[in-house]
Amino acid sequence: MKKLMISALLAVATIPAMAQDAKAEAAPAEAGKCAVTIAGDDAMKFDIKEFSINQTECAEFTVTLKHVGKLPAAAMGHNVVIVKKADLEAAAKDGIAAGAAKQYVKENDERVIAHTKLIGGGEEDSITFKTEGLEAGTEYTFFCSFPGHFAVMKGAITVSK
Ligand code: ZN
Repeated sequence: MKKLMISALLAVATIPAMAQDAKAEAAPAEAGKCAVTIAGDDAMKFDIKEFSINQTECAEFTVTLKHVGKLPAAAMGHNVVIVKKADLEAAAKDGIAAGAAKQYVKENDERVIAHTKLIGGGEEDSITFKTEGLEAGTEYTFFCSFPGHFAVMKGAITVSK
């Protein structure tokens, strides 16, 4: 019995060290992480201006959007829509025309590579998409298609092989 207790104590004592080791080993993989998290707020801003996708490292890529504000989706909705930079204005315009019921994304829009749901304060949504259809070297953009937001809520995506 006593022996059991000692080994249990030892196990507890070694947990922090083991957790640290695991973290250190995970660090190099972070660089090639096939995911990005973007935060949007009540001030109509995204917290990042760019991210990159490497098609060799990432067959799939995940974009997570977190709305860190408090306002509801009807007043300060955010989504993340990914298109070629050249398609930004036309896709944004068609998204606004599609209206709130379509979450400001035109249905079956071939220009839209991926998009999250439109969310309000405190909500979160993720989308995972295949990267094989992307063209390395072409400029891509992520933006929020809520009316009036894309002029400021946008950023660049660099695609490489
Ligand atoms: Zn927005």
